[in-house]
Amino acid sequence: MIRVRFAPSPTGDLHVGGARTALFNWLFARKNGGTFILRIEDTDGARNTEEASAGILKGLKWLGLDWDEGPEKGGDYGPYYQSQRKDIYDRYLARLTADGRTYVEENGAVRFKFSRTAITVHDLVCGDVTFAPTEEPDMTLRRPDGSYIFHFVNVVDDIEMKMTHVFRGEDHLSNTWKHIDLFNAFGATPPTYAHIPLILNSDSSKMSKRDAGSAIESSYMNGGFLPDAVFNYLCLLGWTPRTEAEVLDRTTLTSLFEPAEIHSSNARFDMQKCSWFNAQYLRALSPENLFAAARPFLDKAGLVITDEAVAAAAVYSVKEKVSLLTEIPDWVHYFFREDYPFEADVVTKLKAKPENPALLQAAAAAFAALTEWTEASVHTAIEDAAKGASVKPGALMPLLRFALSGQSRGPGVSTIAHLIGQASTLGRIQRTLA
Ligand code: GLU
Repeated sequence: MIRVRFAPSPTGDLHVGGARTALFNWLFARKNGGTFILRIEDTDGARNTEEASAGILKGLKWLGLDWDEGPEKGGDYGPYYQSQRKDIYDRYLARLTADGRTYVEENGAVRFKFSRTAITVHDLVCGDVTFAPTEEPDMTLRRPDGSYIFHFVNVVDDIEMKMTHVFRGEDHLSNTWKHIDLFNAFGATPPTYAHIPLILNSDSSKMSKRDAGSAIESSYMNGGFLPDAVFNYLCLLGWTPRTEAEVLDRTTLTSLFEPAEIHSSNARFDMQKCSWFNAQYLRALSPENLFAAARPFLDKAGLVITDEAVAAAAVYSVKEKVSLLTEIPDWVHYFFREDYPFEADVVTKLKAKPENPALLQAAAAAFAALTEWTEASVHTAIEDAAKGASVKPGALMPLLRFALSGQSRGPGVSTIAHLIGQASTLGRIQRTLA
């Protein structure tokens, strides 16, 4: 039975690198019918906060990376917070001490006697990596204040929680020989490791917490991304599935996942590409789902929605225009208010031709005469008004768009008119002409 874990140290929000580590573990577990465990490595009391733990859980849930054992879920190998597992660490330390593998320093630290043999890590991504016998001083396991160091608790928990595989950041590879030395000292079989490449900025610099795209909550959840799109994009950061397509759903990605195909070189984060993925996913949503996803952003922009069906249709009408949910309010605000602003350059264009007001009046007359208000009847009325004024419909459309929305871009004019209704359409034309 495959058992993998994501073991974040809660020092801040869920970071894109951590999210991708969790994702690869999750894919491997789901593909193989294994168990995905979430373990919070919060032994550093000074740096670990409850708020950060909560943020990590929130980010994982948003991405749909559900865990089978861990915080909130429980499981047979808990507790899943390292800060609550001290008795287990004490017990394991006593075992090493009984075997003569530790000694206490004068200042009270307990150290582990390295085996000082060559140690090979069999890594699914990096291949076999052999570390020569170390010349480093013996490793502290327990500090004089009684707290344990990361390497020790990490290994003890991987043994206790019966991990079979460990997917983690490449930054841990250089210390993995220490972990294997500990596994050997406990007479335990080390898990199979897969050290995954780091995620760098597009200019190859190291990604820091402040870089765009680094934090799941602020960059993606609040940035107007869809979880499925981010899930898809993150999968491809450091892994190329054997398929032509790039836009792949969770089921397909899960079935295609092969650890051996994870790249051994670092991945480069590309915000434009990530936004492109988001645009593809936005366009594929049903009107109801798109509206549900956009709703928090419409509310945040202060748009007052009285008719949800109209609002959903309005949002759906601009889906080809946007990449992010955050862009939607700017494209649809005039559907929800009569006091919409007018783009400055369009005012100039409207006033540039003396015949424009008469053209708009002709359209208004055609609209007023309609007894049925559908997108098709509105469209016909525009064509008739244009014909009557001996101009092409293309000459009238931009004027109407401007009058009805204040903008020079947007969905089709008939769509706008149909959605705002006959009374509002007539009122908006008159206000523009006033
Ligand atoms: N707590 C470690 C980290 O956040 C986990 C290392 C591991 O996955 O083994 O990097």
